[in-house]
Amino acid sequence: MNYLINSTLAIAILATIACQTNTSAKESAALYSQGQTPPGGKTVTKTDAEWKKQLTPDQYEVLRKHGTERAGTSPLLNVHEDGTFYCAGCHNPLFSYKTKFESGTGWPSFYEPISKNAVKVAKDNSYGMERDEVVCSVCNGHLGHVFNDGPKPTGLRYCMNGVAMTFAKK
Ligand SMILES: [Zn+2]
Repeated sequence: MNYLINSTLAIAILATIACQTNTSAKESAALYSQGQTPPGGKTVTKTDAEWKKQLTPDQYEVLRKHGTERAGTSPLLNVHEDGTFYCAGCHNPLFSYKTKFESGTGWPSFYEPISKNAVKVAKDNSYGMERDEVVCSVCNGHLGHVFNDGPKPTGLRYCMNGVAMTFAKK
């Protein structure tokens, strides 16, 4: 009897997960089609082989395979000089040093992108969590996630993978 209940429950849970995945894909598509034109109307599309050749293995893992760097490992964590953070895949300007803050998470954190259309946000339901994924709006590279527990004035925390970005002093 217990076994029966358990397997029914398992099927119900699996069905729920499947449904959520479908909804998420639909929601993502809707978010992507909200007309957030990339900066300059520019998009960069490359084959997987081309990305692999251009990027370091760590950059490729994060930008193209949605990986996450180990917390506390990015040299960009302690950068607070006057300058701009760019996408490591396509050199799209992403964040100004002015909006960077110490989140204590071990990942470079910002409260606002450098321009409204610098990044795109999509639903990410992987690993059983509901998160908002942040991707570069020019090359669609995975950058990190955005959360609602950031500081003023936006209340947002763009939690970025340092390896997905480069920094250039002004
Ligand atoms: Zn990019």
